[in-house]
This record gives sequence, structure tokens and C-alpha cells, in this order.
Amino acid sequence: MAFLGVKSMIEDNYKQRGLRGKLVRKLRQKGIKDEKLLEAIGKVPRHVFFDDALLGHAYEDKAFPIGHGQTISQPYTVAFQTEKLEIQPGDKVLEIGTGSGYQACILLDMGAKVYTIEYNRNLYQHTREFLPSLGYHPFFFYGDGSKGLPVRAPYDKIIVTAGAPVVPDALIEQLAKGGILVIPVGDREKQKMVKIIKKDGKILREEFDFFSFVPLLGEQGWKS
Ligand code: SAH
Repeated sequence: MAFLGVKSMIEDNYKQRGLRGKLVRKLRQKGIKDEKLLEAIGKVPRHVFFDDALLGHAYEDKAFPIGHGQTISQPYTVAFQTEKLEIQPGDKVLEIGTGSGYQACILLDMGAKVYTIEYNRNLYQHTREFLPSLGYHPFFFYGDGSKGLPVRAPYDKIIVTAGAPVVPDALIEQLAKGGILVIPVGDREKQKMVKIIKKDGKILREEFDFFSFVPLLGEQGWKS
């Protein structure tokens, strides 16, 4: 599936900027408050991640297929999860599940240094070539992110963008002091958003709403 048309890659006109503004207002209405995050959503062109046939849907608050059997998350889900990370400029962030790269662009735009890992080789190769063409430069890794990315640990923040059966211990270990991990945990259909904070030698856990992510695969994920 050629999911990135050349036309959509280069065009970012007033119409698309207007639709992004509308999306930002909708997210604000839904309760998103982090101004830096809303600014990033207003800036990152989401339509360039869409196949030409789906282009008209790029700024709807919905998830969409991005090829290789994967999806780009709903903007509200991206916003909710990112807000829980409390991103500060300069934060070192590990993202598990690169997918389209949209989430990584949002984090970069907020001033984070981003390490992103993807388990699907085609998607990894595609996104690794595509994002720099948009001017976004995370560090790309290929492999099983359910074990984290120990070679570059520790991280100030870790975001898992696939649904996990449990919170992998390795991810808590790879968090810096005061670090935050946000991960959807549950069954294959729906998962509760869980926030883990590593503070003063303690592990604090908060739980939020249910979301629906594609499964986290690998050693600490689902087996198929
Ligand atoms: N953050 C993405 C959304 C990704 S969807 C975006 O902004 O578009 C979830 C992604 O997690 C899929 O691409 C899937 O292939 C990937 N994934 C699943 N299990 C994984 C694992 N163990 N390690 C790394 N990536 C994984």
C-alpha cells in the first residue's frame, strides 16, 4: 500500500492549517490543557501520514490505517497520553511503537529528545526515511520494545503506544529518578491508561480511562 502520496507530502495549505486549528479547539473542549502540546498538534501536519484516498479524514478525531496492518492513533488518544507524560523541553523520551512517526513528531516539537523503537521492520524502514524528510529527527531503532531499549537508558519519560498485557518490569527499571511511564494495559480489545512515576525510590501508579490500542507484541507483550 502506497500510503504516502507525494502530493500530500509537500502540501500544507491554509485549508489544512484551518482544519488543524479546529482539531486543537476540539481537543481543548475534550479537556486537554497542556499548551505546548496543543501548539505541537497545531503545527505537525497529520495529513502527510495519510494515503491520498483518506486525506479528507486526516484532521478528524479518529484512528486510521497507515499500512502494514497498523494504525495512526486518534488525536485525542495521542493528546491524552502525551499530556500524562508532562513533557519538559530537553526530556529524554523513549517511545515504544514508532508506527507512522506522528507521535514522535509531537514529542520532538515539544522539545524532547526522542528514541523510538518499532517491531515491524517495514514500518521501521519506512518511517525512518520519511520523518527526516519532514524535518523531524528522532533516533530510530528496530526491535522488541517490550524490553525497552537498555542501551540508551535511563529515560525521563517512556511512552508505550501499543496495548500491553502487563507493565514490563524492564520499562520501570529503565526510568530515570522522577521519571514517568505511560502505558495502556489490559486485554487485546481495550486497555486502561496507566501512569507510573518513579519517585523517591517508590513506584506510584495512577489509572485513567479505557482506550483501544493495537497489541504490544514481543517478549513482554502478546505472543502473536
Ligand atoms: N506511535 C504510533 C502509533 C503506533 S501503533 C504513531 O504515532 O503512529 C503501535 C505500533 O507498535 C505498531 O506500529 C506496532 O508495530 C508497534 N509494536 C507492537 N509491538 C511492539 C514491540 N514489542 N516493540 C516495538 N513496537 C511494537
